[in-house]
Order: sequence, then C-alpha cells, then structure tokens
Amino acid sequence: MISQLSKASRLGIISLTAASLFMAQATWAQDFSAVEIKTEKVTGNIYMLTGRGGNIGVSAGSDGIFIVDDQFAPLTDKIKSAIGDIQSGDIDFVINTHWHGDHTGGNENLGKAGTTIVAHDRVRARMQQGGRDLDFRNPEPEASVPDSLPVITYNDELGLHLNGDAVRIYHAPRGHTDGDSIVHFPSSNVLHLGDLYFSTGYPFVDRDSGGSLQGVIRAIKFALRLSDDDTKIIPGHGPLADRSDLQRYYDMLVGVRDAVQSHIDRGHDLKQTMAAKPTSQWDEAWGEYFISGDQITVVAWQSLSLDYAHQKPRRQRHGHGHQH
Ligand SMILES: [Zn+2]
Repeated sequence: MISQLSKASRLGIISLTAASLFMAQATWAQDFSAVEIKTEKVTGNIYMLTGRGGNIGVSAGSDGIFIVDDQFAPLTDKIKSAIGDIQSGDIDFVINTHWHGDHTGGNENLGKAGTTIVAHDRVRARMQQGGRDLDFRNPEPEASVPDSLPVITYNDELGLHLNGDAVRIYHAPRGHTDGDSIVHFPSSNVLHLGDLYFSTGYPFVDRDSGGSLQGVIRAIKFALRLSDDDTKIIPGHGPLADRSDLQRYYDMLVGVRDAVQSHIDRGHDLKQTMAAKPTSQWDEAWGEYFISGDQITVVAWQSLSLDYAHQKPRRQRHGHGHQH
C-alpha cells in the first residue's frame, strides 16, 4: 500500500480522500486495547472471528483447533480467549492466506506456543526476506523471526485432513499477492478467500508483492466453481458472504477490467484512462470501503498493460490457473 500510494502520488493521482483514509488506517492500527474479538458461527464446527485485520476462520473438532490467519500480535491473547469459548485446547494449525502483517501478525506468538504454521512457499520467502508489509505500524519491518515463519509450505495444492473435513488449500497465482491461498472446507461447504475477496469493496491488489487484477479475477472464478447456493464464504475483510455476493463481486471485477482494457485498446495512457473515470458505475457500491475508483483504475491499468507484457492480457482470462 505504502509504495503503491507513493507511486500514485508521483503520478499526481492521489486524492485527498485516499490520503486521509490511509492516515486514518495508520493511526487506527496502533491501539489494540479497545479491540474486541467477535465470534460468528459460520456452519457446523466452523467459525469466523473478527477484530482488527483479516477475518479469522476457525475449525474446532475432535482433531483439535485449526485457524486461518491470525491478525496482529497484540491480539493473540484475545483471539485465544475467543477460541477458548468455542473449544478448549491449543491451536494446532494456522494457515496464512498470504504474508501481509494483518494476517500473519500473530504467527510469532503462536509459533512459540507450538502451533504449526502452514502457507504457500512465497509467504515464507517474503516473510523471511522482510521488507515492506502492510501492518501499517512498521513500514520497513525486519525479516520475520524464525518462530513466525511457516514450517509447512506448498507450491500448488495441499490437503489437511482435520475435524472430519478434507480441507483443500489451493494456490491462487498472482492475485492479491504472489502467495495467496484459497482454503476450502468441502464437507462444511465453506471457503476462506483471504484478501482475494473484500466483500464490501474493490480489492486491494498488492502489485509490489506480485499481485495482479487478472489473478484476482481468475481466483474468484475458481472460487465460484467450488461454490453452490449454500456455500458460506469468509472474505479477507468485510462481512461473511455467499455465492451470490461473490458473483456480484466477480461481475464488478470483470466490468472494471473490460472498461479499463477498452481504454488501453484505444491507446490511452494511465492519465487519459483515469480522466475518463472508467469505474464510475461501480464506485458508489464498491469504492467507499478501502480502495477508491481511482485506485482500482490504476491497478487495473497497470496490471493489464504492464504485466504479462509477453502475452496478450485477454489470453489470461483462459489462463492455466485452476482448471481442474
Ligand atoms: Zn492482504
């Protein structure tokens, strides 16, 4: 976000609204004392916890406790206590949907307590390397300490057989970052999509961490194929959703992509594309949560014109993502 915004401001396109939103986020992230962890039952033995940072998925059952993402380090005790109200015992596994600090900040505490951390190969690599992350408190963090690093990593798919479900973890290439996981609980009919899905706004695409709009679209298309009308969908941020919500998000993403592509096809540069406000029809519904219409336009234009320079962007629609 930080360098995304500084790039944007170099291009002279950052609005005051976006800047103040970012400052509000930065201040907002620093005081955790008032944060309350709320537990919402998703279905059966699956729960969603909200506090600050990414939504946490919880599977509790006879094999133990398995969670998806762990928010910020100062919240670990509160998170443990909320999980303790569901089921007593240690947290056996955490999967990080990606490397950002609002999803991995609790790793060190959990790792020290013996929780096994699972993530895509790129999550471990990026955490080990350090550099900018998105916890807003520390724009230039050091490399992560060993206890916080994933100890089980995978490159394409991974199965976890826990609490009566054959949990499947799929890598979604070049989406929100280059190390995103989609976590599917087929028996429970639940998906956790991490930050590939913001249920009330445009997605944040972290191009500096290898993300692209096309990758987010591919991942959401894949998630739609894994879903039916009864599927419960945990987004990275925003309220619990279902397949019709995800379909609306997909349709918006495809609309944004095509609107921006039509400017690229006419040879418009970023400035000309932005001046045309190609996302205006979606901005009221999707542009007020975190990412503005201008910001998603920048991401779309950059993803479509700068990425995959060796391939025609349109071919990416039928890319090899997850065609099972
Ligand atoms: Zn993220």
